[in-house]
Amino acid sequence: MKVAIVGGGAVGVTAAYDLAERGAEVVLYEKGEIAGGSTGRAAGVLYDAFAAPEDARVGDRAIERFREFSGEGDFEFRETPYVWFAREGDEKRGRAIREQVPRMQDAGRDVSLTDPAELRERFPAVNWDDVGVAAVAENTGCTIPATYADLLAAKASDAGAELRTGVEARVDAEDTRVETDAATESFDAILVAAGAHTKRLLAEAGIPVPLKPYRVQALTAGFDADRREALPMAYDATAGYYLRPHPDGLLAGDGTEEVESDPDDWERDADRDFCEVTRERLGHRLGEFGATREAWAGLCVATPDRDPLLGRLREGLFVAAGWQGHGFMRAPALAEAAAECVVGENPLPEFDPTRFEGDEEFDIVEGMAVE
Ligand SMILES: Cc1cc2nc3c(=O)[nH]c(=O)nc-3n(C[C@H](O)[C@H](O)[C@H](O)COP(=O)(O)OP(=O)(O)OC[C@H]3O[C@@H](n4cnc5c(N)ncnc54)[C@H](O)[C@@H]3O)c2cc1C
Repeated sequence: MKVAIVGGGAVGVTAAYDLAERGAEVVLYEKGEIAGGSTGRAAGVLYDAFAAPEDARVGDRAIERFREFSGEGDFEFRETPYVWFAREGDEKRGRAIREQVPRMQDAGRDVSLTDPAELRERFPAVNWDDVGVAAVAENTGCTIPATYADLLAAKASDAGAELRTGVEARVDAEDTRVETDAATESFDAILVAAGAHTKRLLAEAGIPVPLKPYRVQALTAGFDADRREALPMAYDATAGYYLRPHPDGLLAGDGTEEVESDPDDWERDADRDFCEVTRERLGHRLGEFGATREAWAGLCVATPDRDPLLGRLREGLFVAAGWQGHGFMRAPALAEAAAECVVGENPLPEFDPTRFEGDEEFDIVEGMAVE
């Protein structure tokens, strides 16, 4: 079976590896470099704290594979607990966390409610004084996302996949042909994993899909190495930002713009406002920390129901996109499922892309939001 994959992010390279391992003849097209899209801009927060059974299954499998690959090449899965919380007085989000945790536990996730006293003892680097309701997830970790994509690209290549970087691909409107500036080639199947460009690429092939790219931001800053050891990953649901330990010291992110972005024309640098507000929040949460090292923006992709579009669109054409800010942490499992779809199985019918007409009106909701 001859398969084309469009997109060399975490999802595309993992699918290339999985399909090549299953004996497919794989050609992957990446218009820039491997991990040059959203994957290379991701924060690398990895958790399986999901309540819906299919999400929990995907999260669990993804973390299992991250652990399996850890230590190969430059990729390392660093075990790090994940705490999410609502501040005192934020009744709505506090209630939502109290309701989420038993549902996640029912779905087999290693999560539990905790409180400021326990958090202080376990993670003394953080100021937990204003925390009202908090939960902690243990099957979690963090990494540098590009190291994962580079590893999986190398594994795909070793398994026989051909990776064509610097080559922009277009999908034929009627057939399973891929056009590039140099040539047109026929395949048995095409998997579009083109991240923020997926909607445009498929529209050109005559298939409308309800995907909206939106801009988010992150920065890294210095943080004392000893205190970093006592730093979990944390998400302040009331304020809507997250932080994690990072080789630079720490990484923090938010700055979500809930409007549709053009996938080619958007501001790559972080906004000054985002940097100022984030540093203020970090000062409150962590006390002393160092200078900003890097600050950047990137694109995530929203869907009407916040679930992905994963599966068959028409004979021989498949899509894997729309991760609502959770694409990297689930990539090993979502891409594996996409590869299975291509070879004729359907492991995640919940994410069938044909559940939409393609012209749905919807608002962008930040993926981590607790409601
Ligand atoms: C600041 C930030 C922080 C984030 N933090 C996290 C996090 O902590 N955890 C998490 O799970 N997710 C996070 N995300 C989201 C995550 O980055 C994405 O969900 C994930 O990387 C998507 O991977 P992908 O392979 O689907 O897409 P991408 O990595 O965007 O890959 C798609 C690729 O397709 C290529 N392409 C597009 N069109 C064409 C074409 N016509 N021909 C050839 N190639 C094409 C692009 O160049 C791109 O490289 C974050 C995102 C940002 C921006």
